[in-house]
Amino acid sequence: MNIVLMGCPGAGKGTQSVKLQQEFNLHHISTGDVLRAEIASGSVLGKQIAAIIDKGNLVPDEMIISMLENIIKSTTKGIVFDGFPRTVKQAEALDAMMRRLDRSITQVVMIDLPEKEVVTRICSRRQCKQCGEILHVDLSVPLSKCPACGGELYARPDDTPERARHRLDVYHQDTLPVKKYYQTGGKYVEVNGNQTPEKVFEDIQKSLK
Ligand code: ADP
Repeated sequence: MNIVLMGCPGAGKGTQSVKLQQEFNLHHISTGDVLRAEIASGSVLGKQIAAIIDKGNLVPDEMIISMLENIIKSTTKGIVFDGFPRTVKQAEALDAMMRRLDRSITQVVMIDLPEKEVVTRICSRRQCKQCGEILHVDLSVPLSKCPACGGELYARPDDTPERARHRLDVYHQDTLPVKKYYQTGGKYVEVNGNQTPEKVFEDIQKSLK
């Protein structure tokens, strides 16, 4: 099973990918995490990537496609793609890569979220440095420690209101055409992302059957 999870920034792709990974023993590929790991390595490439991501723009297609190919080749498990493809060019490249490896995309799941929810969700998003848990905090109450493990919480540099709005514009312009690309293939389903993570996951599971 190879699943592409789509959705605007903040729709819950990361949370649902982890659930899919655990339930179906899949390999989780988050392009956001891959790019952030390159930034954390301190490499020259990482510095170039940080300058792009921090503004809320997409990294060039060629760069992300070549990074992805190696990761796909490194696993024989089914894959959940989180944050890829984000452009039609990436979708075409993914199809070609999968064909070369004698694999294919089984299903494309769009997590739908009303736009008015997006900016609020993104700005309240925090991640634990220790256990990686993603939470949505009440901004009126100071909270600096992870309730699960006590680790330090941080906000991503691209999770500010202006950058969130810009990422949404980029999503409309570059990523929504990917929805049309997949809609014609008969593998595309939509689930309502404006529900608890558990309910969204239940709906995703139903859509897979
Ligand atoms: P979100 O889904 O909340 O935007 P991600 O962690 O998936 O968060 O992505 C963070 C940023 O990483 C994006 O705004 C973009 O700059 C970059 N990025 C992630 N995936 C891709 C991709 N497939 N192509 C180009 N840039 C990407």
